[in-house]
Amino acid sequence: MKNYSNLNLMNFLTPGPSQLYFTVEDHIKKALKENICAISHRSKAFQQIVVHTISQIRQLMNIPEDYYIVFTASATEIWERIIQNLSIENSYHLVNGSFSKKFYDFSVSLKRKASKYEVALGQGFELADLPIPEQVELLCLTQNETSSGVSMPLSDIYELRKKFPNAIIAVDMVSSAPYPDLDFSQIDTAFFSVQKCFGLPAGLGVWIFNERCVEKSLALEKAGISTGTYHSISSLIKNIKNNETPETPNMLGIYLLGKVCEDMNRRTIQAIRTEISYKAGLMYYALRESKNFEIFVKEEKFRSKTVIVADVLQTPASTLINHLKEHQITVGSGYGAGKDKQIRIANFPTHSKETFELLADLLIKA
Ligand SMILES: *Cc1c(COP(=O)(O)O)cnc(C)c1O
Repeated sequence: MKNYSNLNLMNFLTPGPSQLYFTVEDHIKKALKENICAISHRSKAFQQIVVHTISQIRQLMNIPEDYYIVFTASATEIWERIIQNLSIENSYHLVNGSFSKKFYDFSVSLKRKASKYEVALGQGFELADLPIPEQVELLCLTQNETSSGVSMPLSDIYELRKKFPNAIIAVDMVSSAPYPDLDFSQIDTAFFSVQKCFGLPAGLGVWIFNERCVEKSLALEKAGISTGTYHSISSLIKNIKNNETPETPNMLGIYLLGKVCEDMNRRTIQAIRTEISYKAGLMYYALRESKNFEIFVKEEKFRSKTVIVADVLQTPASTLINHLKEHQITVGSGYGAGKDKQIRIANFPTHSKETFELLADLLIKA
């Protein structure tokens, strides 16, 4: 076994944490110089950082003005907050991998009547099949299932909105945002964490929700149901109205997210999406061309652009992964049962076309 001590030269194409966005190092240096980590989280200076970060996220993802954007510790936390604040009795989950399954598990733990419609790993959902009850309160969707590389077409999300106009629709877009051009008016709440496509150090979740979610959460409180403590919707919005957070937050993370979104806005979201599509096309082409791989997601319309999963046919996946490391590329291993049979390749905004072209070459030869 080789010792890869030259980690500084490595390109991490892992689906989270991943390679940092290429501007992050400079932003961290500047943040330290400006004492961002030492200022008070109740100061004017920090409030201005919050305003800046929220406005840059809003612009980048085209989030309507009347949707709240608040900060948590992680996306995992937001699963819990969504169940606590947006379901009185029941929730319904479309499950096709480990992350969508965990969202469901949280609802079970919090004693809601949680139901799921589950399909095998690598499959998507055919809308006609879904036995979702008419009176569903909270419909939980995972737009990009990171464990299997299955992505949900946005048109399917909008179709579900039409079919279930009274349900609150929650969208986990942790490993795809800001790639999907999601029309937020068609959903009620969405969320992501920053160590995936945003290329930032982990430890910050971003939760987006509309007035309907606020009303629902207040209705729960009125009925004497706990919505949690400091990160209930009511506590979060009371604070964010003053550009603050209930707790001492990850100030460095909030600062860096604003800076990276600003960089992405300068590059334009259209350019970022075009490049991700190009790199995804290249990678799926290479996987089709090589005899050593089979694309895991069979139906093209469900193939993720940001997390690309393939079965490795002729060698253990670990042998291939080590071979790629010699070329300064680290790809992700398979998830769970697929651990030594699959690779997962992150295709995030920071990953360059050149790295993808090199990886495609290596895979075709592998
Ligand atoms: C990574 C991931 C999460 C969890 O994010 P954390 O930041 O680890 O809490 C949730 N959902 C999906 C789809 C993910 O890929």
